[in-house]
Amino acid sequence: MSVDDEQGDLTALVEGAAALGVTLDDAQVAAFARYRDLLLDWNARINLTAITDPAEVLTRHFLDSLTCLLAVPPERRQQPLRLLDVGSGAGFPGLPLAIACPRRRVTLLEATGKKVRFLETVITALGLVNAHAIHGRAEEVAHQPGQRGRYDLVTARAVASLPTLLEYCAPFAHTGGHILMPKKGDLAQELAAGERAAKLLGARLLMPVPVTLPLLDDGRVIVVARQQRPCPAQYPRPAGAPAKRPLG
Ligand code: SAM
Repeated sequence: MSVDDEQGDLTALVEGAAALGVTLDDAQVAAFARYRDLLLDWNARINLTAITDPAEVLTRHFLDSLTCLLAVPPERRQQPLRLLDVGSGAGFPGLPLAIACPRRRVTLLEATGKKVRFLETVITALGLVNAHAIHGRAEEVAHQPGQRGRYDLVTARAVASLPTLLEYCAPFAHTGGHILMPKKGDLAQELAAGERAAKLLGARLLMPVPVTLPLLDDGRVIVVARQQRPCPAQYPRPAGAPAKRPLG
């Protein structure tokens, strides 16, 4: 790719972020460029993403991650509050959110050790002092006292269907906190099952937020749940159960 092409790509990211109300400075743009380099480099050795076109990494991973901010009022985006990304994989959406919102404290939870090592490498290479990675399964980490009810925002992208996702995420959210789940496609059945699961978990589904960016105009939404009361202690059930026997 020529320097001009690369600049064009980065401009698309900067403009897309601006449409979301996020101003990226030069250091943040450089951090995204370095993150993309590391992602494509590591992807040759471990399976991190099926998206290998550099321009698509910017839109379908970085910008798509930032669309979670559509569900967060601008005045709350830069508050020094805690965000947890469950099943972060190669860092989506948690790491782009950590780059764009440097005052937020971002925890990335991931079950696969190799991916956690990638996340730690990116965090170190980018000097991201507001992010760290945890190796573990949501079903186990959510029962640790220091983790339960600790976060005002919990995100999860492409990890599971809504009832399973809610069981992974709700125990981490404090009362009044929100769970943000990017989704696309026909969600009618999933939303109905998600609503039933949310009730059992002390949460409530709100109106999904549509993503209307020109570069991501394919029916994406952010499904949002609000934690109404502390999640009952029996959730999440033991490892594997939320996926095998979803609530709702
Ligand atoms: N969120 C990333 C994204 O959007 O690109 C990764 C999606 S990948 C399809 C799902 C990831 O969730 C995998 O890396 C997997 O290891 C992780 N995962 C699945 N179940 C999990 C669980 N119960 N606890 C923690 N991580 C989990």
